Amino acid sequence: MRRPFIAGNWKMNMTHLQAANFIQDLGDKYNNKNNCEVAVCPPATALKSVKTIIDSDNLDIKLGAQNMYYETSGAFTGEISPVMLKALGVEYVIIGHSERRQYFGETNSDINKKTKAAFNADLKPIMCVGESLEIRESGKAGQFVLSQIEECLDGIDEESMVDLTVAYEPIWAIGTGKTATSGDANDMCAAIRKKIGELYGKKISETTIIQYGGSVKPSNISELMKMSDIDGALVGGASLEVDDFMDIINYQGSQ
Ligand code: PEP
Repeated sequence: MRRPFIAGNWKMNMTHLQAANFIQDLGDKYNNKNNCEVAVCPPATALKSVKTIIDSDNLDIKLGAQNMYYETSGAFTGEISPVMLKALGVEYVIIGHSERRQYFGETNSDINKKTKAAFNADLKPIMCVGESLEIRESGKAGQFVLSQIEECLDGIDEESMVDLTVAYEPIWAIGTGKTATSGDANDMCAAIRKKIGELYGKKISETTIIQYGGSVKPSNISELMKMSDIDGALVGGASLEVDDFMDIINYQGSQ
């Protein structure tokens, strides 16, 4: 049985003060009917303030970062290491978001290094994959995403896989209001699971959490969560509204 996992990616939004107010508001309204694992991923500058409120209000919400570098320390101006995130109480880290790939040139090889470094620091990576519209229209989305999975997981051992979340995020659906149909999203998540099965065996593939991301809203989450291979969502825009994020967490499930 895979526990549903809903994570909010706040992207480059909110000062630390705004983030503190937001998490307080979320905490006040918080309920979690489906017993999901829930995480918020604020900008790096707000991690500490958000963590302080999560702890002081005893909220059952995990803290995630949006990115990190793969080295532990050194002359890498502007970068943040996995060890630094861990010391702040961060549990999850988004790795290889398509915006990182698109605007900052991150490659599968970088993402592979970051994923390994996250495991080494006892962080749980949310590793993102997904195709562009051009690739989808060329009919090669499956092949493309599965080779992202292979390259990003290269050399990662079986034991680490327990702590891996994969987020399938078709780029054309991110922040555009276009969602993949639940059937198409599920087909890709099932193909990813099958590939993980080929690489690590069936037992690991059946316990790996695979999220869908791309314009997830209160209006489409229940449909997505009914699908066999979608275990949760990585939510951008809708995680910036407390009521919408709450409605997503409390999707119409089996309760
Ligand atoms: C994301 O940031 O990962 C995302 C899926 O964004 P949105 O929900 O806004 O499409």
